Amino acid sequence: MSDDSPEVLIVGAGPAGLTAATYLARFRRRVLVADGGAPRACWIPVSHNMPGFPEGITGDAILKRMTDQATEYGAVIESGRVEGLTRDGDGFVARLNGRELRVRAVLLATGVVDHHPDLPGVERAIERSLVRICPICDGYEAIDKAVAVIGDDDRGVREAAFLRTYSDRVTLIYIGSPQALTGQDEMARLGIELIRAPIDNVRLEGDRVTALSWGGTFRAFDLVYSALGTSANAELARALDARTGEDGRLFVDPHQATSVKGLYAAGDVVRGLNQIAVASAEAAVAATAIHNALREADGWTIS
Ligand SMILES: Cc1cc2nc3c(=O)[nH]c(=O)nc-3n(C[C@H](O)[C@H](O)[C@H](O)COP(=O)(O)OP(=O)(O)OC[C@H]3O[C@@H](n4cnc5c(N)ncnc54)[C@H](O)[C@@H]3O)c2cc1C
Repeated sequence: MSDDSPEVLIVGAGPAGLTAATYLARFRRRVLVADGGAPRACWIPVSHNMPGFPEGITGDAILKRMTDQATEYGAVIESGRVEGLTRDGDGFVARLNGRELRVRAVLLATGVVDHHPDLPGVERAIERSLVRICPICDGYEAIDKAVAVIGDDDRGVREAAFLRTYSDRVTLIYIGSPQALTGQDEMARLGIELIRAPIDNVRLEGDRVTALSWGGTFRAFDLVYSALGTSANAELARALDARTGEDGRLFVDPHQATSVKGLYAAGDVVRGLNQIAVASAEAAVAATAIHNALREADGWTIS
């Protein structure tokens, strides 16, 4: 490998990938970050739980700051999807933008894809915080609001229960199969209303209010949480036979190493909490583990 070829490939330039890039660049590793576009973080209208930003910060601003920090120390960020990853001796060969790239270690920070409800204008509604994805992130901003949760399995029931911390007007709009709905007694105990409505009866209207109608009845809510889940972007790891959990996310050890030697993972692709602080923490652990593994391989450690 030439001196300017990357040693470590990070796949994904969201909060996890960019945090790891900063750490690895500051460990004086040559690091390339490849990004296929649209990190989940760019959907955040304003985050109020990002540590250190009491006044809130937009997703785009978080990504810009993290990008500036990583590139400040020499990390290279390249647009493009990593199309394939194969084993090559102790390292890996990645396919990126029509070329093959040989690297010593890989960090997957590839995130997840949200399953959005099939509502017209849903993306615009997310930008306006009318449709929300993550009550851990912004449940606080739902205090005392009329809140609906769209769900098609147990996740919707659990999310509705979670939101009772914030509002006593929580309704689950259940669009899944009748057999998959459990916990109705518990919902009644918590004062959660249940509506079984097909998705085509759910509409977004007006500037602030999300309205629904079904069976001739009309109801309006201040905002809607989608609890329809996500799919992990774990194909590159699966092709290497990395171990995954039932939900498709990557299994990692306490150092963020997957079951494939030299392949690490951090962020939403690993853990269901789906938080920037968690993604960054995992990335810091992974970056340090990668650096130490490379030091050891090069004889730069003392046992
Ligand atoms: C509407 C919304 C609001 C949110 N609000 C908050 C909040 O207030 N606070 C909070 O902590 N969290 C919030 N989150 C969650 C937060 O955005 C995620 O937890 C965070 O972005 C996860 O970071 P990540 O780096 O793991 O993944 P991501 O940010 O999703 O980045 C992954 C990147 O990997 C890229 N990628 C995937 N596969 C490939 C490939 N093969 N080749 C190249 N690139 C690839 C993707 O294109 C993407 O750019 C919110 C999320 C949403 C959707």
